[in-house]
Amino acid sequence: MIISMKLHSTREEIDQVCERIREFNYKVHSIEGEERVVIGVVGMGDVTACLESVEAMPQVEKAVRISVPYKFVSKEFRPHRSQIRANGVDIGGDEFVVMAGPCSVENEKQIMQAAEGVARAGAKFLRGGAFKPRTSPYDFQGLEEEGLKLLAKAKAATGLGIVTEVMSDRDVELVAGYADILQIGARNMQNFALLKTLGKCGRPVLLKRGMSSTIKELLMSAEYVVAHGNPDVILCERGIRTFETATRNTCDITAVAVLNELTHLPVILDPSHATGKRSLVPALSRAGVAIGADGLIVEVHPAPEKAVSDGAQSLDLPRFQAMMNELKPYVALWSTARASELAAAV
Ligand code: PEP
Ligand code: MN
Repeated sequence: MIISMKLHSTREEIDQVCERIREFNYKVHSIEGEERVVIGVVGMGDVTACLESVEAMPQVEKAVRISVPYKFVSKEFRPHRSQIRANGVDIGGDEFVVMAGPCSVENEKQIMQAAEGVARAGAKFLRGGAFKPRTSPYDFQGLEEEGLKLLAKAKAATGLGIVTEVMSDRDVELVAGYADILQIGARNMQNFALLKTLGKCGRPVLLKRGMSSTIKELLMSAEYVVAHGNPDVILCERGIRTFETATRNTCDITAVAVLNELTHLPVILDPSHATGKRSLVPALSRAGVAIGADGLIVEVHPAPEKAVSDGAQSLDLPRFQAMMNELKPYVALWSTARASELAAAV
């Protein structure tokens, strides 16, 4: 259920409504705007009785039953886009945000060159895995904390925000000490213990769609993080498994538009894992801008032929710079569309 309070309700009135809801054994989560307060109600109980009781309270404007199971992340809960701030940059706002960097943090020279190059080209975040989820246990598993320290060094040198993967609930605190955004990889989208821990991590979360997950499952995983206390979730389409073998994954580009209809959370596109081929990354990135993604996360390596992971899909720095230049007219159209949307929302 979602309860919308009347404009300028007082603290006491809000508390009275929350108290009444709790009497039905539900939990409440309120979102408090400057003028209006919206209360989300979750749990198991007698919905009809609770709804009727709350609707009868004079300070309540509207009480609605929500049909979707992902209440907090749904458009019904919050009709306008959520903007998520990390390292001074708003994702989901009036800026198309590009995150870029290597698949894995390998050594100081590699990450510094990548960071300087992507910053010069206009990226706002440096990506790079210090904990790597690899299909083979014999493949490079990441530099772990040493990698996080290198990312911190790159941040200090460039000012870029850091987005890096956390694979286990045990490491959330450690990674949150270095990262501006915690990435949850496709393979961990339904690691519920991890999702619960992220509720208290104090950092925005970049949640990648599982390779065999539906859009609804992605939203349910986002709901886990939000329901456990962290509203700052950014969703990422990174391609799914299909019968097609021409690309590493099949980019469900429509998922971006579908998510924009269903949720207020920002949505970004990963054209690197979606294709597996660097030659396809610029075209898919343009599609991401055109379909209304809030940004991109792109793999970029100073020497892709030497990369320890995902070299084939990584752009080198000149190619990344060229792609960013080619994206400019598309991003200009995106900005015009977004500005009118934001103006209409106030
Ligand atoms: C990555 O970003 O390098 C990665 C492992 O991505 P995904 O979880 O989408 O496969
Ligand atoms: Mn990768």
